[in-house]
Amino acid sequence: MNAATPRQAPIREIDPAEALAHQRADALLIDVRDDNERDAGMPEGAIGLARADIPERIREVAADPSREILTLCATGRRSLLAAETLRELGYANVASVRGGFGRWQAEGLPVARGALDADASERYARHLVLPEIGVAGQQKLLNARVALVGAGGLGSPAGLYLAAAGVGTLTLIDDDRVDRSNLQRQVLHADARVGMPKTESAQLALNALNPSVRVRLESQRVRAANVETLVRDHDVVIDGADNFPTRYLLDAACRRLKIPLVYGAVHRFTGQASVFDARRDDSPCYRCLFPEPPSAAEAPNCSEAGVLGVLPGVIGLLQATEAIKLVLGIGEPLVGRLLCYDALAARFRELKLPRDPACPGCGRDASFAGYEDVARICGGSVG
Ligand SMILES: [Zn+2]
Repeated sequence: MNAATPRQAPIREIDPAEALAHQRADALLIDVRDDNERDAGMPEGAIGLARADIPERIREVAADPSREILTLCATGRRSLLAAETLRELGYANVASVRGGFGRWQAEGLPVARGALDADASERYARHLVLPEIGVAGQQKLLNARVALVGAGGLGSPAGLYLAAAGVGTLTLIDDDRVDRSNLQRQVLHADARVGMPKTESAQLALNALNPSVRVRLESQRVRAANVETLVRDHDVVIDGADNFPTRYLLDAACRRLKIPLVYGAVHRFTGQASVFDARRDDSPCYRCLFPEPPSAAEAPNCSEAGVLGVLPGVIGLLQATEAIKLVLGIGEPLVGRLLCYDALAARFRELKLPRDPACPGCGRDASFAGYEDVARICGGSVG
């Protein structure tokens, strides 16, 4: 160092409890231990970035050099050096956590177990830097189980993005096979897989994108006799069904099992989405919106109905977004609101969808008399 250079002030050190408070006020806590050291756990919400990787990767995790950055290692020595490196890189507001992870644990501060492995840290890097997700949120996604009913137009974008986001278990429920006429919108499938069961075709696409996602296949139609078994033990159910009987069964099962149901539907150039969350007293259900199945005369003839190919992409992604929010517990879910999209007008409209006290599904006088297979009035597949 040049003798004329003014001596840098020593790196500020703070206690773990103070670090936690700063972290909750938007400071970024970086665990600078090596990847294998962090396997046994690290402070909840911390980002794992080994000291040696800081110069190369710090911009990815902290784009704003004015943000407060806290460094932590095993005992508080390496974190001091890491903080010095950060200061040299232009981060002015840095501090090192005194006593490191050892003291963090000894003081009983929150720890995320089973820290992400190297593949996951890299794959989900853009999630990990969002304070609303971070390591703790990514763990929630990895532990989540989402049922996707229908591997068609809505299920395609939803499935792809949920797999990409790291939802740990995806259950695909669909008894159909890939048809060439599906490919205009059902982007999970491929020309070479025409004739294959949609669940199997979807599994190939999803695991090619993210091999660590567990894809469970249920190649059967949702019926009164199996609906509870199919959706039980999931955190969220995505309704990508193409027919009314399935939607009524899903609604009844999700209401009884208290599983949030993410609804989406498309027709020609318009689509809609909402969330029915039976865990909440104020949430409507599907039957608050559609009390009874339409008669054969009223229902659109689905096998002849058309749909703009990109439209289920928009609606299916709204459903995936809601599912991720529900798993993470962030944001404001689409409960009590029906979001309508008109592709030709390029306009979203939001309608209030209050719970109906006279609803035959969730209303005051509603009673459950068993699951019912309502007549299949719409056998076609535009989903
Ligand atoms: Zn209702």
